[in-house]
Amino acid sequence: MPQGTLFVMTGASGVGKGTLRSRLLERVKLYYSISMTTRPARPGERHGVDYWFVDRARFQAAIEAGAFLEYAEYVGNYYGTPRAPVERHLARGEDVLLEIEVEGAKQVRERAPELGIPAVFIFIVPPSLTELRRRLLLRSGDGDPAKLKEIAARLARAEREIREAGEVGFDYVVTNDVLEEATDDLERIVRTERLRAYRREDALAAALSRDPELEAELDEMERWLMERGRTRN
Ligand code: 5GP
Repeated sequence: MPQGTLFVMTGASGVGKGTLRSRLLERVKLYYSISMTTRPARPGERHGVDYWFVDRARFQAAIEAGAFLEYAEYVGNYYGTPRAPVERHLARGEDVLLEIEVEGAKQVRERAPELGIPAVFIFIVPPSLTELRRRLLLRSGDGDPAKLKEIAARLARAEREIREAGEVGFDYVVTNDVLEEATDDLERIVRTERLRAYRREDALAAALSRDPELEAELDEMERWLMERGRTRN
């Protein structure tokens, strides 16, 4: 059985990755990799569902144990992808989805070949930086100066990430303007990748198979057609 594909979805904070991810997961079967982070949980976020929320000591220990496929620091906190569950699901032939920032995607890009993991890199972009700023400000809720400062940091990082997109060598770029259209694009990418020849050996085998019962009926039909042709001429 061919192993699954690792879909790496990357994009600036506020671009709507989280929403796109949950909509995509409703349409296609993918194992979503839950990241570990040192960021405190936001209201409504759950341990083991949105993230594994840990302290810095636990995160550091996981780095030292080589437990991450990739990890990165993002606006003052650490985020990382636990390696074991990803590899386990891929080995079972299941596709895996990562939703991570650009530094992490670069690391996966570098490591995937040596680990023998087929990986597809998708970059989600906003229609413009202004639209991204608007979304981040709307999401921030109140006028807390610390939050506004964080938004400025996330915007600056987003701009840099988009400028440096070429370095990662993304396979696909999806613009999240109209949510429905961006979700359609993502679904198409997953379905297209599943049609790659190395994953379709079962389809090739099926295409070479014959059904003896139906073959017998077709033999009969062929004889009948020949007979009819002969009597006509
Ligand atoms: P947030 O704090 O908004 O949940 O996430 C901040 C950024 O970290 C987002 O761009 C998100 O995609 C990214 N992120 C989440 N999990 C991981 C991870 O495991 N590794 C890396 N490199 N980035 C992650």
